[in-house]
Amino acid sequence: MRILITNDDGIYSPGILSLAEVAAKFGDVRIVAPDVERSSAGHSITALRPLSYKRTPIAGFEAYRVDGTPADCVALGAHNWEKVDIVLSGINLGSNLGNSMWHSGTVAAAKQATLLGLRGVALSVPSSADEPDFEILKPSVAKVLDVLLNDKDLTLVNVNFPDRKPKGLRWTRQSVRRYDGTVVPGEDPMGRKHFWFSIVPIEETEEGTDRWAVEEGYVSMTPLRLDLTNEKELAAAAARHPLT
Ligand code: MN
Repeated sequence: MRILITNDDGIYSPGILSLAEVAAKFGDVRIVAPDVERSSAGHSITALRPLSYKRTPIAGFEAYRVDGTPADCVALGAHNWEKVDIVLSGINLGSNLGNSMWHSGTVAAAKQATLLGLRGVALSVPSSADEPDFEILKPSVAKVLDVLLNDKDLTLVNVNFPDRKPKGLRWTRQSVRRYDGTVVPGEDPMGRKHFWFSIVPIEETEEGTDRWAVEEGYVSMTPLRLDLTNEKELAAAAARHPLT
C-alpha cells in the first residue's frame, strides 16, 4: 500500500512525523507537505504561478517540500508518485471539528485526494500551549489506520483525537453549530489598527457529533462526502418553483 502523507502545518511539524512513523507499519510512506505553515488555507490551489517540489528527507522518510497549499501538495505528490492508495493529512495541531472543516487545510488535503479518485483521511489533535504528547496518541492512531486503511468503501474521513489518552473510537456526524464570528479590534506596537477573527461556538454540543465524541474522550471518525447538495431544499425548491 502506498501512503502519501501531507498536512497544513508545514513539513517540519512534529505531527506529520508522528503520523508517518505509525503509517509506515501499514505500507510505503512518502511525505509531501507545504514548506511553511498553511493552516486555514482551506481548499485553495495555486493556479497563477508554478510550484517547486524539493527533496527534504525527514527522519529516514522520503519527503518533499512544496511552496504551495495542502491541496497543491496532494496534487503534486500523487503526480510524482504513481499508484498512491491513500492520502493521510495531519496530524494537525488544532482540532478540525464541525465548522472548522470549511476552513481547514488539513481536511482540504484529504478532500483533494478524493477529487483525484484516491482515498483521504484528515487527522487532528487539539492544540494547547504545550506540544501534544504524540507517544500517548500513537496506539490510537494505529487503531484508526487499521480500520480506515483496510476499508476501501470509506473514501473521505475526518478524524479528531481528544486532549487526553483516548477511551476508544466513535463514528460521528459533523457538528454544525454556529460560532460567534466576532471581529475583535486591537492595536499593534506601532499604534496601527488590526483585527482578530474569533471562533467561539454559541450553541450546545449535540450528542453523536464529532465535538461530542472528543469532549467525551473518544477519537471521532466522521465519514464525509464532496456533494454539498441540500437534497431536501432542492426537492422543495423544485416543487415551489416548477421551471418549464
Ligand atoms: Mn494546521
